Amino acid sequence: MSASIQRVRGMNDILPEKSYFWQKLENTVKTILAQYGYEEIRMPIIESTSLFCRSIGEVTDIVEKEMYTFGDGVKGEMVSLRPEGTASCVRACVQNGLLHNQVQRLWYMGPMFRRERPQKGRYRQFHQVGVEVFGLPGPDVDVEVILMTWRLWQALGLAKRVELQINSLGTAEERQIYRAELVAYLKLHESSLDEDSLRRLETNPLRVLDTKNPAMADIVANAPKLLDFLEAESKAHFEMILQRLDQQGVQYVVNPQLVRGLDYYTNTVFEWVTTDLGAQGTVCAGGRYDGLVQQLGGKASPAVGFAMGMERLVLLLEQDQTGENESPVDVYLVALGDRASAQAIELAEQLRDSVPSLRLLMNCGGGSFKSQFKKADKSGAKYALVLADEEIDQSKVRVKALRTDEEQQLVSWAELSALLQTKLG
Ligand code: ATP
Ligand code: MG
Repeated sequence: MSASIQRVRGMNDILPEKSYFWQKLENTVKTILAQYGYEEIRMPIIESTSLFCRSIGEVTDIVEKEMYTFGDGVKGEMVSLRPEGTASCVRACVQNGLLHNQVQRLWYMGPMFRRERPQKGRYRQFHQVGVEVFGLPGPDVDVEVILMTWRLWQALGLAKRVELQINSLGTAEERQIYRAELVAYLKLHESSLDEDSLRRLETNPLRVLDTKNPAMADIVANAPKLLDFLEAESKAHFEMILQRLDQQGVQYVVNPQLVRGLDYYTNTVFEWVTTDLGAQGTVCAGGRYDGLVQQLGGKASPAVGFAMGMERLVLLLEQDQTGENESPVDVYLVALGDRASAQAIELAEQLRDSVPSLRLLMNCGGGSFKSQFKKADKSGAKYALVLADEEIDQSKVRVKALRTDEEQQLVSWAELSALLQTKLG
């Protein structure tokens, strides 16, 4: 036997036993996005590499070392598998003229790719639900997107397991002044900085605040705070968000160290964090990025958005699981003999017409009663429908409960749909 081919490192198969959680998450997300009037946009998975360099930032982890980049073989242009959705979404909106004096409330869902070290909650292909709103300066809409995520946690039963952390990065000007102060402070402590931080001190000093190294915790905690450098307008924007969250009873923690890993954020940034997934605790992250549309060649447009990591949310949903998954099948159609298997196809199709919500598995491949009932049991179906010579001679179907000791019933085809609807609710 030749060696079998394995999946690529950091890429996952999502098997049927897990897809239940994925569908629960996807359906709940879609329902809530619809409640807020958001519309779906779908972008390609591959974009010009320059799009990500220009938006995410040349000296971010993503662009420096995590992108899957290759020549497209045509004009020698470099392209990349998208590491996130915001840049693509802005590109699509600019290119298709969706932003001219218009408000857009958009969402997308799909795979993203980053060549990171794989570990629990961190993969090389992962999935995000992203939301981007264009044309509204906030802070009301900043509150709206946060409330939308809050509603989602409640709907998924995760509200008690996540904490909202929020901060403001101010405007580019405010950040510039702060940056100089921060660099001066960090230089005083240069001997205690780790290698990553020393590098970031030169390239992207705010990201030093984002360190996960416990040895740096004190230095970071005592660093000057960006919030203290905000001018009146930015301050008012931030205060208004906090007030509205208070008004709606949403708890939050103001975290002055929250800077986010991407370059394009301004003012509001937030993360929903859990302590139940080890180091990979952020399940949703976002903020305002008023400069990005113009930076990518569009007419300036304020924007706010977030992205959620679906694998991490599925891990949380799985941890909560009590009992077994809901069965994917309601009834299993058993057919014994040639006459019966011909009729089974007809009955199955008729039932799918008359009871569209019915999930019916038809026995295929023949087999004895015993083996068919074994399969029926394994399918998780609540009822077996039985067709054999005896039933066919009377133009009837036998309905047998598989999980309870309900009496079996012999009914005509005409009665069957109504009966199943009553039994299955
Ligand atoms: P982290 O700090 O965990 O590396 P990030 O700041 O790189 O996250 P974002 O770019 O903000 O992440 O992406 C938004 C969300 O997507 C994250 O909060 C996380 O839930 C999820 N995510 C990001 N990278 C991965 C990955 N490699 N595998 C699985 N989920 C991921
Ligand atoms: Mg990351």
